[in-house]
Amino acid sequence: MTGICILGSTGSIGVSTLEVIAGQKDRFRVVALTANTQAERLFEQCQRFEPEFAVMVDADAAQQLQKKIKQAGLATEVRQGLDGLIEVATLPQTEQVMAAIVGAAGLLPTLAAAEAGKRVLLANKEALVMSGQIFMDAVKKSGAELLPIDSEHNAIFQCLPEDYQTGRMQAGVRKILLTGSGGPFRNTPLDELQGVTPDQACAHPNWSMGRKISVDSATMMNKGLELIEACWLFDTSPDNIEIVVHPQSIIHSMVEYVDGSVLAQMGMPDMRTPIAHAMAWPQRMASGVARLDFFNSMQLDFQKPDYERFPCLRLSDEAIRTAGTMPAILNAANEIAVQAFLDKRLAFTGIAKLVEQVMRTMSSRAAASLAVILEDDAQAREVASSIVNAG
Ligand code: NAD
Ligand code: MG
Repeated sequence: MTGICILGSTGSIGVSTLEVIAGQKDRFRVVALTANTQAERLFEQCQRFEPEFAVMVDADAAQQLQKKIKQAGLATEVRQGLDGLIEVATLPQTEQVMAAIVGAAGLLPTLAAAEAGKRVLLANKEALVMSGQIFMDAVKKSGAELLPIDSEHNAIFQCLPEDYQTGRMQAGVRKILLTGSGGPFRNTPLDELQGVTPDQACAHPNWSMGRKISVDSATMMNKGLELIEACWLFDTSPDNIEIVVHPQSIIHSMVEYVDGSVLAQMGMPDMRTPIAHAMAWPQRMASGVARLDFFNSMQLDFQKPDYERFPCLRLSDEAIRTAGTMPAILNAANEIAVQAFLDKRLAFTGIAKLVEQVMRTMSSRAAASLAVILEDDAQAREVASSIVNAG
């Protein structure tokens, strides 16, 4: 039995992971589940999966959960806060850690899992965007296995030569083709983007996801963060990565070789596929995902990305080329901007503008330590918040 801890089990990726586990109960057992504030939801998951530990970040929610668990007579031990997250991410009885907290909040527990040498199932791309070198060094040092859950990176992982991890991008690979759907506003007239609502932005045509990543998909900041994520995961530069808009999300990314071969990974747009892939790797196991139907009007279209419509693509390219703490600054400003948009305090088109303003205000430093990264993250949030507050 493989022990697994799910950081962020009440979210979209967390729930999909539990669905995969529910179909593989003879292979996986849930050691720990964590959530931010949703005690009721985490309690239901505890009843169903009986983990040894459950962590609530919020103190009141932790008390609530504790009470419910006692009443129900469950053996699950409740922990609280960041310390609790780090404790369960590093337990000796846990082989795999699903990193599915959204945003910078996932950095420290995910890094702790990497340092503890776990198989890290990485959904939380923000952690890698912020701390790329430190994170990859931690993986190397501890011998952790870092397996991408992001569907594109999981696809690239499947299409790269098996030995790519042993060196720099292997000779023979010409380019990584990072696909993205273009989100809900791919064809919206440019002058209407200003007025789109959070609900419109969160209505992704192909994927059902948490609200933050849904907005990121609508601005294509998600693809920008994924560009940075891919540079770290596959030890390459943005020069070797081409973004390809593919509205149907059937191909999840591709690798092009020097002989003209292009390998693509295809499947239904359902995160249970990359989750099951990474959990079972190097084997395969059933995920519960529907089969692709090639005979029911399947169509595959491709377009160049539109940098005018999606300025976040340009900003993230700039951030990774600037390097140092700039990706962390970009990420922090984006988190504040997205939340302000969801709270209806910022227009949709204001997201990219705010991120750019913060990037112009701050200067990048060498990302020499976690402390430096967290400092610039905090400062970028402050700068971004004060711009939002000033209206
Ligand atoms: P979500 O909003 O649905 O879930 C987020 C989870 O994180 C919840 O369990 C929540 O309790 C927890 N959380 C939120 N704030 C927290 C905090 N401050 N401290 C601790 N825990 C906190 O998000 P999601 O869509 O599941 O995405 C999770 C991560 O996976 C993101 O980094 C996202 O970019 C990545 N990802 C998601 C998808 C997808 O299909 N949803 C695909 C690829 C990558
Ligand atoms: Mg993705």
